[in-house]
Amino acid sequence: MSINAHQSAVPAGTGTASVTNRLVEANRRYAEKFRDPGMDARPVLEVAVVACMDARLDLHKALGLELGDCHTIRNAGGVVTDDTIRSLTISQRALGTRSVVLIHHTGCGLESLTEEFRTELEEEVGQRPTWAVESFRDVDQDVRQSMQRVRTSPFLAHTDDVRGFVFDVHTGLLREITNE
Ligand SMILES: [Zn+2]
Repeated sequence: MSINAHQSAVPAGTGTASVTNRLVEANRRYAEKFRDPGMDARPVLEVAVVACMDARLDLHKALGLELGDCHTIRNAGGVVTDDTIRSLTISQRALGTRSVVLIHHTGCGLESLTEEFRTELEEEVGQRPTWAVESFRDVDQDVRQSMQRVRTSPFLAHTDDVRGFVFDVHTGLLREITNE
């Protein structure tokens, strides 16, 4: 381990390695105070939250969640992809969750992308990605589509409590999206 990892003031943003060193150092302090809560892997609140990876969205604080309460499944956009369904299926069938909460947010990076992103990638690297970008223009509609994908999945055991929201990154408030 580099000596830098032991210094408290490792500068951020000066390279990947130094950022990671900072995280490793933070973990050392975390572990010093950590007490094993002796929890089971099954989420206490029996809920899985699917959300965008956006750095401004602190899911646990925003939803009043504690350690062990829920599963959090995050990706670019918080979209329901095959891999999201994979995680939800395991969450429900192996680990006992019953409710699904979907959270998109204002000012999402996916609103400024198009599927053209894939074509540009193909031109640059000579290979077309197999995945869709899942970009969108109307965040409300995208939440509805995500709810629909969860509700119609044949793999999930519980689809009666699926709710979707848009998190406002300026006010911190959730706005619920209804089905229409
Ligand atoms: Zn986002």
